[in-house]
Amino acid sequence: MQPKASVQGLPIYEPGKPLEDVKREFGLTDVIKLASNENPYGCSDKVWSALAEEKERFHLYPEGHATLLAEHLARHLQVDVNRLIFGNGSDEIVQMICRAYLDVGEESVIADPTFSRYETGILIQGAKPVKVPLRDGVHDLEQMHAMITEKTRIVWVCNPNNPSGTIVDHQALKDLLEQTPEDILVVIDEAYAEYVVDPSYPDTLSLLEQHPNLIILRTFSKIYGLAAFRIGYGITHPKIVHELHRVREPFNTNRLAQRAAMAALQDQAFVEQCRIKNRQAMEQVCQTLDEWEIHYYPAHGNFVLFDTGYPSDEAFQFLLERGIIVRSGRALGFPTHLRVTLGTTEQNQRFLDAYDEFMKSKRRMRSNV
Ligand SMILES: *Cc1c(COP(=O)(O)O)cnc(C)c1O
Repeated sequence: MQPKASVQGLPIYEPGKPLEDVKREFGLTDVIKLASNENPYGCSDKVWSALAEEKERFHLYPEGHATLLAEHLARHLQVDVNRLIFGNGSDEIVQMICRAYLDVGEESVIADPTFSRYETGILIQGAKPVKVPLRDGVHDLEQMHAMITEKTRIVWVCNPNNPSGTIVDHQALKDLLEQTPEDILVVIDEAYAEYVVDPSYPDTLSLLEQHPNLIILRTFSKIYGLAAFRIGYGITHPKIVHELHRVREPFNTNRLAQRAAMAALQDQAFVEQCRIKNRQAMEQVCQTLDEWEIHYYPAHGNFVLFDTGYPSDEAFQFLLERGIIVRSGRALGFPTHLRVTLGTTEQNQRFLDAYDEFMKSKRRMRSNV
C-alpha cells in the first residue's frame, strides 16, 4: 500500500535533539538545549495557578473556537476578535492554510532556506513550492514577487526568518503587499515578533485593513515559553478566518493550552523581561563571535546562525558530546553553519567556551598535518 503521490518521499521533520536522548546517549547529567529556540526562562509564573483552576474541567472538551482566549488576545492586539484563528501551534495554521487554499498543480512562493513547514504543507497538497534563494540571508522580496504566475496562490515570508534570523523591513513588506494581486495570499510568519527591537521591523497589524489577503502568524511557543502546550494564532481578514474554520479540527487547541495562553498573555512584564535578557544574550554571543571573526547573519529573534567553516555536524557533534545541544545547519540548508538559541548568560558562556575548544581542536589538527 503506497500513500498518495504527493506524500511519497516527503522528508520527515527533524526536530532539535531532545534533552532526555542526549543524557541517555552520552551518559551526561548536565545537558543544555539551545536547539529549538525555546525560552530559557520558561513561562510566566501565572500559568501554573491558572492551569490548576482547570482541573475541575478535564472531562470536558475544549472550546473549539477558543472564544475566551480570542477575546483577551483581541484586546491585547487591538484587533477585531473575528480576525483571529488558533492552531495547535502556528505549525497547524500553516497546514490549515495549505489545505484550504492550495490545489494540485498550483504554486506557492517561499524563500530558500526558510522554515521547513511551508514546503511540507505545500507538497502534501500536490502543489509546487517555488523557491527563491535568500540574498545575504535575507528574503529577496523583489525576486519573490517576480516569481508570481497565474498559478501562484500563496507567498510566504518568515520574518524574522528561521534559520537565518534576518528581517525584511516595513517598507519592503508594504511594497510586496501593494504589488501582489489580492487573490494571492501573503502569509507573514512572525513567530519571533516579540523579540524584535529593530525600529524598521514591520508593523504588520497596521497593514491588515488595507490588505485583505494578508495573514499574520504568531505563537505562544517562543517568547511566551509555552512550546509544550502547542498553541499559536493567525490574524487575518474575517473571511479568511471563516474559510480556515472549515478545515480546522473541531477541538484543535486544547483546554490547558487555551488557559495557559490566557494567563501568559496577562503577564506582559515577563515578556518584556525576556525581550531585554534576550538582547543582552545577543550581545554576549555576537561580541564574542566578532572577536573570533566568525561570520553570522544579523539576528533579530532569539537565535544566531553562524558559519563554522566546516561541515556543520563536526561542531554539532563536538558540542553534543559536551552536553550542549545546538542545531546543525545541515538539515536547515546551511551545511557549514550552526544555529544556536540564545540561553541564559551561563548557558551562553558554556556554549562559547565549548565552541572555543572546538576551534582549538581544529587548529591543533591542522598544525599536526
Ligand atoms: C517556532 C516557529 C513556529 C512555530 O511554532 P509553533 O510551536 O507551531 O507555534 C512557526 N514559525 C517559525 C518560523 C518558527 O520558528
